Amino acid sequence: MVSKGNLFIISGPSGTGKGSICNELIKYEDTFLSVSLTTRDKRNDEIDGVTYYYVSNEEFKKRIENNLMLEWAQYGDNFYGTPKDKVEEKLNSGINVILEIEVQGALKVKQKIPEAVMIFMLPPSAQALKERLLNRDREKEEEILKRIDIAKKELSKAYLYDYIIINDDFDECLKTIRNIIADRQEKLSFAEKLQESI
Ligand code: 5GP
Repeated sequence: MVSKGNLFIISGPSGTGKGSICNELIKYEDTFLSVSLTTRDKRNDEIDGVTYYYVSNEEFKKRIENNLMLEWAQYGDNFYGTPKDKVEEKLNSGINVILEIEVQGALKVKQKIPEAVMIFMLPPSAQALKERLLNRDREKEEEILKRIDIAKKELSKAYLYDYIIINDDFDECLKTIRNIIADRQEKLSFAEKLQESI
């Protein structure tokens, strides 16, 4: 029997460095990073089908109606959601799956899949978060202010997560999350072996 893969959710305020961490995680682990659907515009450095699937509001609504989404949420003026098919397929074939999603969606996933491991990333300070958002030159000022506002709300939900990690050192943060993934895998396969041999 192939053991099911483990599901990990990574959330945290915009500008905390979740994206960079996730891009590293998939290099090392036998891990799949789910590609979300979004209605927001594609940024110059993003690739359709790799960073996101960019869809219209109508298309997004259709996917929800056709029950194709594991979860979805509104973030600012846009919608974001996780397509169900790939996540289920990967988990069933024993591959770990990472969802890099915001808090409302994360809580919906946790309700549907209670064994999902929830990781919340924090920036080292409010100043660092603001500087990162301003310096990365991605969003207009109005959008940045919206993101800071959403960050406040998201931070108030950090207590609902299994792990809270401060991203004050990229390599350390990456190591901590890799350890969480490896530890979970190791302990669960040990539990499975015990179960079979008792
Ligand atoms: P960004 O516009 O910076 O790419 O993403 C904005 C927020 O949407 C981030 O917090 C990101 O984690 C979240 N997000 C990305 N994909 C999904 C998704 O599929 N579902 C949900 N609920 N949030 C998502």
